Amino acid sequence: MSQKRGRPAPKLNRACMLCGLVQSMSQFRNEGCPNCESVLHFADNDDLVRECTSPTFEGLVATHGDQGSWVARWLRIENFVPGLYAVRVLGKLPDDVRGDLQAQGIEYRPRDGSIQD
Ligand SMILES: [Zn+2]
Repeated sequence: MSQKRGRPAPKLNRACMLCGLVQSMSQFRNEGCPNCESVLHFADNDDLVRECTSPTFEGLVATHGDQGSWVARWLRIENFVPGLYAVRVLGKLPDDVRGDLQAQGIEYRPRDGSIQD
């Protein structure tokens, strides 16, 4: 392994179950999910990050903040931050978190492919 390229990029190894954003565990832990932090409050909550993000996901799509793009419509993301998104995320939010979201008027659509349009 060559070190010539300097610091390696943080390992993108978890996907947010609510919006599909892919980040490293430490990014979720330190900063929360930039899309969902206002409703999920990931930051500094290790357990919640583990429960609400998944290490198993597939189909990465990069977005650049072009909110009218087909990717945004496809992923059903509005006002999302540019970044990498997983098309499928395995796992579901815990019931209490889902109840929380419902109370805030947010419709949770599992991204594991169990819902067909
Ligand atoms: Zn999110």
